[in-house]
Amino acid sequence: MREMYRCPECGRELRYKGLCWSCKAEQERREMLAWTPEQIQEKLSGLIQHVERLEEDAWDKDFWALLCYHNAITPELQRAALAAELYYPSEIYYRAPADVGDALVQALLETEDSGEAGNLLCCLAMQGDDRALEVLHELEEHPRPWRKKLYVDPSVYAHTGGWTFDKAGARRQLNFDTCYPLIKGDRSRDKAAQVFRPREDRCPHCKGRVVDILTLDGRDARLSFLGLDGVITATCCPNCIPWEEPAYSRFTLDGGSEAVFPYSYGAGEEDDSDWGMEEYANNLYVLGTEPVPLFYGAHFDDLSTVGGFANWIQDANYYPCPDCGKTMKYLAQIQWDSLDYMEGTLYIEICPDCRVVSMHHQQT
Ligand SMILES: [Zn+2]
Ligand SMILES: [Zn+2]
Ligand SMILES: [Zn+2]
Repeated sequence: MREMYRCPECGRELRYKGLCWSCKAEQERREMLAWTPEQIQEKLSGLIQHVERLEEDAWDKDFWALLCYHNAITPELQRAALAAELYYPSEIYYRAPADVGDALVQALLETEDSGEAGNLLCCLAMQGDDRALEVLHELEEHPRPWRKKLYVDPSVYAHTGGWTFDKAGARRQLNFDTCYPLIKGDRSRDKAAQVFRPREDRCPHCKGRVVDILTLDGRDARLSFLGLDGVITATCCPNCIPWEEPAYSRFTLDGGSEAVFPYSYGAGEEDDSDWGMEEYANNLYVLGTEPVPLFYGAHFDDLSTVGGFANWIQDANYYPCPDCGKTMKYLAQIQWDSLDYMEGTLYIEICPDCRVVSMHHQQT
């Protein structure tokens, strides 16, 4: 018999002594969030002096903590990265000043290498000013030879930075400019965001209960950035959610929501026992009290967030709205792990005009 242990923080059963991965990640985050202004400055200076560090290790913890937890990436760091011809990770250049943008454009127009062109397209997507839009649109209309070796057009590369453009070059924003975390709290007191609410109706594929996987009350002041004066609900059968394409649901602002069945791809094993439903339903997640930086949930993989940027396990995947065909906006991500449900992440997107949400799953 293998010995069992429990995480001293949350009580989760473990095969080893010590904190579970999620409490460990939480502890590390608390440490990084607690950096003083002096410590932040020190980390930043260290990175500026040795920016080539990012070339060897794109997962450099200081960089990601500065970006995600402290929103502390400065033009000085961006100029240093540019001088080192560092074009990855593209997040370095988020909203970089015009001189940096111009130099990235210059590099993109000069390169003949498709890999470098792809990285530079991501950098310009992150930089995202009107000149970046103009150049990406121009390159979509008049492709360079390197385009043949890339999988998608510049308007799809722009998704990386949370926007895109149409044939005429008009910009559309694909993410929200505010981000809130889902944190553990008292669900009976704060219902602005609710995660995993099982319903009475059952999935036609597996006979399991259909679940309102996320509801967001747009009337709560914190969620006013969503621009919808009512309740957004995302509904699915979590057991059957397809892997290769999204599931959809339709909502009404008065709290109504219907999952769109049948799912066209795959279905979970039949199970109408409702096993574990109550436990999942009793999760502790509520909307955080304060907004966090836009990239808060974009790198460290144990966070569920609303708005801002997602942590895409594979490529950023913005699906078209099944009703109007326009690219949907990224709304939220839920870590299945935080519910102890399964591994991977659920990404939720929305077409606010058609009141449709999409839900899809990614996993390493
Ligand atoms: Zn734990
Ligand atoms: Zn099902
Ligand atoms: Zn639509």
